[in-house]
Amino acid sequence: MLRRAVERESPWDIVIIGGGATGVGMALDAASRGYEVLLLERHDFGKGTSSRSTKLIHGGVRYLEQGNISLVMEALRERGLLRQNAPHLVHDLAFVVPNYDWWEAPFYGLGLKLYDLLAGKYGFGPSQLLSLEETVARLPTIKREGLRGGVVYFDGQFDDTRLLTHLALTAAAQGATLLNYAPVTGFTRDDDGFVNGVMVRDEESRTEWRSAARVVVNCSGAFSDGVRRLLDPAAAPLMRPSQGVHLVFDRSFLEGDSAIMVPHTRDGRVMFAIPWNGHTLVGTTDTPVPEAEAEPRAQEEEIEFILETSAQYLHRAPTRLDALAVFTGIRPLVATGAGSTAALSRDHTIHIDQSGLLTVVGGKWTTYRRMAEDGVNQAAMLGRLDERPCVTADLPIHRWDDLSWSEQLDPALPYTEAEIVRAVREEMARTVEDCLARRTRALFLNARAAVRMAPRVAAILARELNRSETWQRGQIAQFTELARGYQLS
Ligand SMILES: Cc1cc2nc3c(=O)[nH]c(=O)nc-3n(C[C@H](O)[C@H](O)[C@H](O)COP(=O)(O)OP(=O)(O)OC[C@H]3O[C@@H](n4cnc5c(N)ncnc54)[C@H](O)[C@@H]3O)c2cc1C
Repeated sequence: MLRRAVERESPWDIVIIGGGATGVGMALDAASRGYEVLLLERHDFGKGTSSRSTKLIHGGVRYLEQGNISLVMEALRERGLLRQNAPHLVHDLAFVVPNYDWWEAPFYGLGLKLYDLLAGKYGFGPSQLLSLEETVARLPTIKREGLRGGVVYFDGQFDDTRLLTHLALTAAAQGATLLNYAPVTGFTRDDDGFVNGVMVRDEESRTEWRSAARVVVNCSGAFSDGVRRLLDPAAAPLMRPSQGVHLVFDRSFLEGDSAIMVPHTRDGRVMFAIPWNGHTLVGTTDTPVPEAEAEPRAQEEEIEFILETSAQYLHRAPTRLDALAVFTGIRPLVATGAGSTAALSRDHTIHIDQSGLLTVVGGKWTTYRRMAEDGVNQAAMLGRLDERPCVTADLPIHRWDDLSWSEQLDPALPYTEAEIVRAVREEMARTVEDCLARRTRALFLNARAAVRMAPRVAAILARELNRSETWQRGQIAQFTELARGYQLS
């Protein structure tokens, strides 16, 4: 996947705005149907919400509790398809719901049996009641005071930006053209006022051009209203953004191979503590915010809430000094007039503006393929494209061969120089941040270690991309500044 200029006169079948799960999923779906597709991302692929998830491929036990059976069934089917098409990127994980009250075992035990049932042939393994000893065997670092036992169930886990990169590589192999650092800055319309193209700026070459399209699809997630307002400044909002925070700790806080799932925190949310990439990931919160930002920051109360909830369940309570990283993502929730954002629909929505701009938004990472299928069906109709069937239900997702051994960049994390070289040569990484935040997960796992790695990564980038020493210094300074926002102490 090479970054190259994409100016041309003839219209693309579909131009997609946004390189997160939704946009890249759409690009893969459209290209594999044989449409000519261009995807434009203003920063790097996954810079938005798609790098900031809880990393679960799940049906959503919580939506079951809300009675949203069809949403759970659809997500469970997608979970099964993802494991089938990307077994190298999605794996099973055991989740234990610890029980401290007598009623919890029968209540959650029954609910999780229904979850198993809804998965049907896409099941990941049967849920089970656990005795106190079995619970402790699975969660050696769980707080034992008052613990009666637990219920174990199975869901999927992944690395969100690794999957995104592989989806982009698969889309490119199917003929899609994808470009990062290429914001859409405006739209063009035909004589009837319908959208027939976008204005694009290439941040590297500082050039600007128009890309004509039979149909334009807005996949900019929580930023969707901003993009719609480039077309109509008075467009009524579709989104109610809400942010979620995660803290990352050393693995010793959650030993064993299972995750903890807390179905009801003191304010009625779900909280997870999960083993992830050799660390412990804890989250998340659900805090309404006035608007989506590219680099959202955790609020003090959110950090306190996660620490306080962790202390209720973990034998050794983590403090802010233990946090190796903090990261925040904005949920692209579709406004329905409901009260709290925790109650807003996690289902996806396809909206068509009067000018013919299609917006595909909402849903979750797990259902990106289904969103893309629906989105491309609508786009083909709107753009009067030949009708072609979706083929992604059993399309294998790109796989890398293992890298030969090379030197580790920092003793705290397993990433090597070879991974950086590959990220630049084959995965369109352009900056130190691309390499350390999304092609590897250094920034999200250990922000200080990531800062230590920055100079070597900048040197590799400069060599590969033929950049100056001034550029290198600028990259290190920018990354060091960014990484401050991922540190708590
Ligand atoms: C805290 C949290 C935890 C979550 N956990 C899970 C989970 O465990 N499992 C799960 O299935 N789902 C989870 N989700 C949901 C999931 O992460 C999102 O639904 C999904 O990532 C949204 O993808 P997207 O492509 O729609 O948006 P984004 O990833 O935000 O992509 C939109 C892109 O559009 C780009 N863009 C904006 N404006 C322009 C422009 N003018 N020109 C070009 N590009 C533009 C942005 O830079 C951005 O990259 C979670 C969400 C949050 C917030």
